[in-house]
Amino acid sequence: MEILENYPLKDITTMHLDVRCKYFAEYATEEELIELLLSPQYGLNRSMHIGGGSNLVFTRDYDGMLLHSRIRYISKIAASTQTVRLEVGAGVAWDDFVKHCIEHGYYGAENLSGIPGEVGASAVQNIGSYGAEVCDIISRVNCIDTVTMEACHFMHDECQYAYRDSIFKHQHSQRYIVTSVEYTLSLKPQFTLTYGPLKALAEKPALSMSDVRETILSVRNSKLPDPREIGSVGSFFKNPVISTQQFGKLVATYPAIPHYPIDDNMVKVPAGWLIENAGLKGHSIGGAYVYEKQCLVIANNGNATPDDVVSLCKHITQTVNDKFGIELHPEANII
Ligand SMILES: Cc1cc2nc3c(=O)[nH]c(=O)nc-3n(C[C@H](O)[C@H](O)[C@H](O)COP(=O)(O)OP(=O)(O)OC[C@H]3O[C@@H](n4cnc5c(N)ncnc54)[C@H](O)[C@@H]3O)c2cc1C
Repeated sequence: MEILENYPLKDITTMHLDVRCKYFAEYATEEELIELLLSPQYGLNRSMHIGGGSNLVFTRDYDGMLLHSRIRYISKIAASTQTVRLEVGAGVAWDDFVKHCIEHGYYGAENLSGIPGEVGASAVQNIGSYGAEVCDIISRVNCIDTVTMEACHFMHDECQYAYRDSIFKHQHSQRYIVTSVEYTLSLKPQFTLTYGPLKALAEKPALSMSDVRETILSVRNSKLPDPREIGSVGSFFKNPVISTQQFGKLVATYPAIPHYPIDDNMVKVPAGWLIENAGLKGHSIGGAYVYEKQCLVIANNGNATPDDVVSLCKHITQTVNDKFGIELHPEANII
């Protein structure tokens, strides 16, 4: 276990910006993590935890310590005739866990196929896609409290899960380091096929989780950049939720605007549609550009600087606000 100095973040973040952190350290056990938390480099500097770096945009060098988990295991800890409970180390790649579930016949994670990042962050971010959210299968989140240096846990109901949100992003931001996550999966076939491209699968005889996964991966590959080739953090902005009153005015001018009612008072509008219809498809500043196949994505052509990304983010927010009167908020963690 080594504490590395002036460590480059270009290859450990999917935005691939040329930035560095003052200290970087990985640990493979809870004991090693506690040792790091007791180090002067941790005690005397600000710090944060990093997973696969797929939702982080560092706008400058990070003048502190980054910690990364290499706690990697998948254990079956309970089972009944209906369900199985798995405990998974925070450092397991999220999609490896999804593949494991599919291979073993555990239902519930397949709609989240292909999301970059690691298991620890899945519980922080409440990742979601294709009509599913990870909070639907999370039972318990095991952590180390960086204040008491002791192990603790949060049951599902204590995590305050909401759209891409959890308690770990707010009052507990960076206090609790997730060491493992417990998921409850179904042993009985059950599919969520409400999202557009999956609807057609409902008619398929002997539908399998692999069918769902393949459909999702093929849609994802057709519209999202592969982080190994093109830098991005996926969706840069959250889809805004506006009042039905504001939506009523908007739809009168733009009848084609897609929308998803949240309840009687609120409507969700796709940020990608707003960006595209504000005329920003392909728009670039320096090496940062609006990804043509999905305008919700800010991509790096290989030469983007942090300033390019920040300027483009501001330009998009301003232009969309001027045209539609809607304020976009980043989904990505801007640091
Ligand atoms: C091409 C692409 C497609 C994407 N598609 C989706 C999608 O469909 N749905 C979706 O929800 N997201 C999507 N994302 C966003 C991203 O993959 C998720 O937010 C993911 O959960 C981030 O995981 P990570 O391990 O990379 O975390 P990081 O980006 O490294 O960190 C994210 C946050 O989690 C915290 N964190 C990380 N590990 C721990 C830990 N062990 N303990 C405590 N805190 C921790 C960090 O401090 C940070 O606040 C996409 C990203 C890309 C690049």
